[in-house]
Amino acid sequence: MTYNFSGKRVMVTGAASGIGLASARALADAGAAHLVLVDLNEQALNNLDLACETSLYAGDVADEALWDRIEGDGGALDAALLNAGIAGQAAPVHKMAFADWRQVMAVNLDGLFLSLRTAMRQAKDGASMVLTASVAGLKAEPGIAAYGASKAATLHLAKIAAKEGARRRIRVNAIAPGGVDTAIWDSAPFFEELVEKHQGDRAGALNTMAEGMTPMGRFETAEELAQQVLFLLSDASGTVTGTALVSDGGYTL
Ligand code: NAD
Repeated sequence: MTYNFSGKRVMVTGAASGIGLASARALADAGAAHLVLVDLNEQALNNLDLACETSLYAGDVADEALWDRIEGDGGALDAALLNAGIAGQAAPVHKMAFADWRQVMAVNLDGLFLSLRTAMRQAKDGASMVLTASVAGLKAEPGIAAYGASKAATLHLAKIAAKEGARRRIRVNAIAPGGVDTAIWDSAPFFEELVEKHQGDRAGALNTMAEGMTPMGRFETAEELAQQVLFLLSDASGTVTGTALVSDGGYTL
């Protein structure tokens, strides 16, 4: 596609897999000069082969010391995709362990806050940021209280940061995907069961879910999502700020 990131320095969290990885690749292909890549998975991060300069930070986004280190290393940002997240354990509220609730909040909300704080501190005037939310923050689905609440908060955090950054022309938007074919599904017990029912055919299991959930009858690919992220991060989305781009094949309609 046609977005131009020539000479830009861009941060991506959750960069070693799925949406973050596809976005990092698309940014490199669009000419980004330097990518600041953050992920818990050190091995996957070190194995990345991208066509631009990179700074790699292996660590937990919920660890404030990681962000102190990144800020200490310096460097101004043109754009940031704050995307690291986990699904957590599925359970209705009355059965949810507090530790499971806290774990999701630690990564999806504490980690997001710390990432956003550093990104806002390092942002150049006119920078653009995208926070990865989810349709789970828009539509109430039983069994995912922690995840849904963390993603609803993500949508609101994007709006507040957008208002705070507006006078410096810093834009902050959220992206709210429906179902994207990434590794995040593989940690969900209900998905494992569905894959078993499909005799191990993972793609078939995803298709069955997509057929049932979305009017368009399909999920997104990480590469499709990445192009939408690049739109929001690029000058092509000029005055778009504080919004959520819902990319869900009609799931929330
Ligand atoms: P993924 O599991 O493929 O990628 C997530 C990445 O985040 C992994 O590389 C993982 O190592 C990293 N990560 C997890 N916890 C971390 C931590 N504490 N610190 C640093 N890095 C950490 O999943 P994905 O689908 O690409 O997820 C990216 C984002 O998209 C998440 O915020 C997720 O909630 C959101 N999302 C995904 C879908 C979907 O269907 N895949 C739908 C809506 C929203």
